[in-house]
Amino acid sequence: ANALVWFRNDLRLADQPALQAALSARQLPVCVYIHAPEEEGGWAPGAASNAWRQRSLEALDADLRARGSRLRIFRGPTLPVLQALAATLDAEAVYWTRRYEPEIERRDTAIKRALREQGLHAESFNGALLFEPWQLSTKQDGPYRVFTPFWRTALADWRTHPPSDAPAALPDLEGDPHGIPLGTLKLLPARGWDAPFWQHWTPGEAGAQEALEVFVDGALRGYRDGRDRPDRVGTSRLSPHLHFGEIAPWRIVAALEAERRAETGADIDAFVRELGWREFAHHLLHHFPASTDANFNPRFDGFAWAKADRRALEAWRTGRTGVPIVDAGLRELWHTGWMHNRVRMIVASYLCKHMRQHWREGARWFWDTLVDADLASNTLGWQWVAGTGADAAPYFRVFNPVTQATRFDPDGRYVARWVPELADLPVPLRHAPWTDPAGARRRAPGYPARPIADLAAGRDAALAAYRALRESA
Ligand code: FAD
Repeated sequence: ANALVWFRNDLRLADQPALQAALSARQLPVCVYIHAPEEEGGWAPGAASNAWRQRSLEALDADLRARGSRLRIFRGPTLPVLQALAATLDAEAVYWTRRYEPEIERRDTAIKRALREQGLHAESFNGALLFEPWQLSTKQDGPYRVFTPFWRTALADWRTHPPSDAPAALPDLEGDPHGIPLGTLKLLPARGWDAPFWQHWTPGEAGAQEALEVFVDGALRGYRDGRDRPDRVGTSRLSPHLHFGEIAPWRIVAALEAERRAETGADIDAFVRELGWREFAHHLLHHFPASTDANFNPRFDGFAWAKADRRALEAWRTGRTGVPIVDAGLRELWHTGWMHNRVRMIVASYLCKHMRQHWREGARWFWDTLVDADLASNTLGWQWVAGTGADAAPYFRVFNPVTQATRFDPDGRYVARWVPELADLPVPLRHAPWTDPAGARRRAPGYPARPIADLAAGRDAALAAYRALRESA
């Protein structure tokens, strides 16, 4: 008997419950990928994400071929493709790994129902999370809105799956349907701006495993403090691999737990807690699906954002704001498809507070440019910084980018790397070149002379808008 294994954001062969289900039922797994961005609602994957997906699909196909099988690519709409394939192949079952984006959850529920009505065995599995988004609830049986109690409950109820290896060999179906060549999906950008990305990343399951090993042998020791330092390799860089399901979170946890000693315990706990934020993001997105576009906290619906300022937004996107740490982050993003977490907070805060531009403007830019763009984590991240979210930083806590830079990039190495025109300035000045305009003009002539939003005035205006909102409530 045949079964369809429908790959989505679970582009791996180890810890792969959908594939495992077919093998356990002694069915021949026919591995398919169906391209249907129009089914993702307002959040179809962005350009950087697509470029990653192309490479990850290539890697999955190569891994399948090495075992005797292969990946068959189709173009949506998804349901009729699955129905036609099941009919042509006389398949008994369709298996897949769950996704949790609201629009996709709705679609998948409808697909499951339709397939079952057709007499097929349709079954989905958790392959992405340590806890299903609906699994943990408060004592009142409601959703959590604050991370700490959420995570306390998670730790008290801690059960993770044991890792399971990829099958050594996979039988393949003879002949049709072959599907279409991956290239016809046009996932790669026409102008090749993604080329520099691949000096930093190896998409696919082997690349994910390698990133995990590099982290365990390196930055794990000292992670608790090192994770805040953008000038060092202090974090795992596993986020795109996790987003595309190239590695299961429980495999990461198992690899870390194998390293647990007295001296690594605090670093491991700190890291697993960050995975916990990813879990919490999925929990929130599931329970509050409108939060991708609307303020989580409706009190902010009356907030006086400044009018959308095209020129200022363009300066922010291209790393030309005149605030070095902000520009460094946005340039790192442009050149690598990723930005350090501490710097994500700094650039987001500058946009939402000093520039008073709506958080959605920033969220959209990240969505298009991050290789780890993830609807749950991106929504939580932006609403947290903007102060409009669940468990958010209070709005009146405005990050000072110079203080942040001095603390987390003390030698100015991060700024020098991404904003090389400032590399000749001595360090206090490198983080705030406007404080010595003549010196900065002489040594960094191409760099903006002043920030597009003044730090003191921007902060005051943001706080005044916040006070007005409070008084109107
Ligand atoms: P590590 O420090 O090694 O952490 C390990 C893993 O834990 C990460 O791979 C990630 O899966 C998870 N994690 C860590 N921090 C967070 C967090 N704050 N929220 C949720 N999960 C977390 N992360 C994304 O994966 N996709 C996004 O689109 C995204 N957008 C963000 C937007 C803003 C404004 C902010 C402030 C944060 C955003 N993050 C997002 C969270 C975080 O910045 C990244 O997950 C992290 O920088 C990834 O690097 P890493 O894998 O080296 O992290």
